[in-house]
Amino acid sequence: MNIILFGPPGAGKGTQAQSIVKKHNYFQLSTGNLLRDEVKSKSDLGTDIEKLISNGKFVSDEIVNTLLRQSLTNLKYRDRIIFDGYPRNVEQAANLDVILKEFKQTIGHIILLNVSRDTIEKRIMGRMTCEKCNMTLNEYFNKDQIELHPCGVEHLKKREDDNLDTVISRYDTYMLSTKPVLDFYSKNSNFTEIDGAGEIDQITNKINEILKV
Ligand code: AMP
Repeated sequence: MNIILFGPPGAGKGTQAQSIVKKHNYFQLSTGNLLRDEVKSKSDLGTDIEKLISNGKFVSDEIVNTLLRQSLTNLKYRDRIIFDGYPRNVEQAANLDVILKEFKQTIGHIILLNVSRDTIEKRIMGRMTCEKCNMTLNEYFNKDQIELHPCGVEHLKKREDDNLDTVISRYDTYMLSTKPVLDFYSKNSNFTEIDGAGEIDQITNKINEILKV
């Protein structure tokens, strides 16, 4: 069963996706991570992508849909995908429908993590991600864990797009382009909204209840 984790930037989609991956052997399909990998490769495409990401703008549907298709065709992940950061607009939601039908897969659950803009700012401004294991920590809330991080504290990096200007732009883009996708999904019987403002473990428990695992 595939799962869509939905919500504004900083809602905790990546953190919750990682916990589902660890516990239940899922694959986290984060279009943001795929795009950042392309940036790291220093290709011409990566340079174009970097400019868009650092301005809080969307990368074109064409590029993102191509990356998505590559992961969906990998049989290893069949029916075990958590979509994190996709779909981000109505066109991508329609595209996902088409691709899933083509590969005879379905969405078991769509989970919205709802978080206020204030909380988002605090979370994003302190966020650090491990370049080796992808674990996300927060320099304000997880000081001890940061010092003890098994990959080494030197691998914990801030994202270039986690600055106040870009956060505001990403939030505005979410309200304008991504929130309308909820109209597309919220009528579905497999759609659930949860309060994403609490402690990480509480939210994980709520997700596990929804997934009945
Ligand atoms: P994220 O890691 O999900 O916060 O994404 C970081 C950035 O990557 C976003 O602000 C966008 O610039 C870009 N991005 C990620 N996913 C998508 C998508 N589905 N469509 C367009 N741009 C995306």
